[in-house]
Amino acid sequence: MIETVTSFSEIIEARSGEPVRTCYFCQKCTAGCPVVHAMDYQPAQVVRLILLGRKDTLLRSTAPWLCVSCETCGTRCPNGIRLAPVMDVLKEMALQEGVAPAEKKVYALHQSFIDSIRLWGRVHELSMLMEYKLRAIDIFTDIGMGLQLIIKGKIPVLPERIKNLEQVKALYRRTGR
Ligand code: SF4
Ligand code: SF4
Repeated sequence: MIETVTSFSEIIEARSGEPVRTCYFCQKCTAGCPVVHAMDYQPAQVVRLILLGRKDTLLRSTAPWLCVSCETCGTRCPNGIRLAPVMDVLKEMALQEGVAPAEKKVYALHQSFIDSIRLWGRVHELSMLMEYKLRAIDIFTDIGMGLQLIIKGKIPVLPERIKNLEQVKALYRRTGR
């Protein structure tokens, strides 16, 4: 389904707070993005697709899932457009509309991170990575390096709960998670 140009770009602006309609395709965002080589659409192309109303294309794109929210694009953009919040909106839309994440392992890591914060109030790397490996069905990659980190005490074996964990849980409840 292709929405009208105006409605889709307006929705993106309203949800992200970023003035994507001011983009004049100078491509400075693309030139500075550290992960552009891995994306199917470059950051400037993502904005162009938004302005063209290509919602279906964008919800299936790998670009939002590979964005690392470094904010380089927002710093370089002459119109102050930050693509990290725009990419977040596209990811949220994909999930809300039942579109499978284009980068399943990235989504698995997001879920594991969120679960770790909910459980401990902070990240516990070991349990988070174990959950990630189960979700991603990727048990053995980097396992030797992980064991080295545990042996050297770089990754604590036992988790530590923060004080006032209930406040963190209240935030989760507010977002319906
Ligand atoms: S830097 Fe800004 S104006 Fe230039 S292409 Fe990227 S989003 Fe558009
Ligand atoms: S915030 Fe995302 S899109 Fe922007 S430069 Fe960083 S990785 Fe690229």
